[in-house]
Amino acid sequence: MRKMGGERTGVTYEENPQQIAEAEAKLQQKAEAELQEVFRSFEGEDDDRRGIVPAYEAMGLGDMTPIPHVIFDELLNNRILMSYDCAERMDIMLDVTREKGVEVPFVLIGEQAKKTNYVMFNEFYSVKNNSGLTWNECDFKKVTDANVGLVGSFKKRIEAVAKMHDGSRAIICFGHTHPEDRSIYYGTYSRGDLRNLIQYDDSIAKVKREMKDDDNISAEVKREMEDNGPQTLSCVIAANGDMDFMFYDHDDRNFYKFTNVLRMTDDGSKEMLQNYTFKTPLPRQYR
Ligand SMILES: [Zn+2]
Repeated sequence: MRKMGGERTGVTYEENPQQIAEAEAKLQQKAEAELQEVFRSFEGEDDDRRGIVPAYEAMGLGDMTPIPHVIFDELLNNRILMSYDCAERMDIMLDVTREKGVEVPFVLIGEQAKKTNYVMFNEFYSVKNNSGLTWNECDFKKVTDANVGLVGSFKKRIEAVAKMHDGSRAIICFGHTHPEDRSIYYGTYSRGDLRNLIQYDDSIAKVKREMKDDDNISAEVKREMEDNGPQTLSCVIAANGDMDFMFYDHDDRNFYKFTNVLRMTDDGSKEMLQNYTFKTPLPRQYR
């Protein structure tokens, strides 16, 4: 159904706060159900991951429950390459995280090369340069708001990539850092982090649907968009320096790790970055 008038407000962040909250709550419920489905699949009879998630969930930490990365498979032939600029800014963020003990949110934008799992990131945003927040103000609510805005503003990018017709896929990666003093499990994705990845992926799908209804976008671009993304990833940078990128596959309902993470150096060579080296401590008895 077409909307009336010229004031098209398909972009999430242009809707009123109550509508946003309701839409996000719905997406969160859906993501939660999917996350539980993933965890249930690990409890199959022959699965050596069996019992791991329930053991950590028994700590009663809810969204903060650490989910050890050893239970996730690696993405086939994966590679992430960060531009020199992106890598430099991620280093600064890691320094702030270590020095101030705060969690810093950020977003990376890039492209996935045709028919590969090779991703190149060349744009970096953090809430500091997007919404004027200072590092100390970075809390989860503000991160979410900043991300919702970015999902909306990502429309232009989706359109631009679709117009290139070269089969590359736009990638948007939602990330945050984990300071060391918050928890002994700091080098681990939390249950909430994993659910957020599913939820952000759904937010992007929503933007895609809105664009499909947009009369200002050509049929050709809509077709490209249908075929080529965009794709959502997430990244946790742990205080120990691990750069942990994760992909959620909606089709087979599973998470996959990127294990080859590289950066461009100032002399134009590529340098390997550490990832997923953190050993998640065994579950503690909290109750
Ligand atoms: Zn986290």
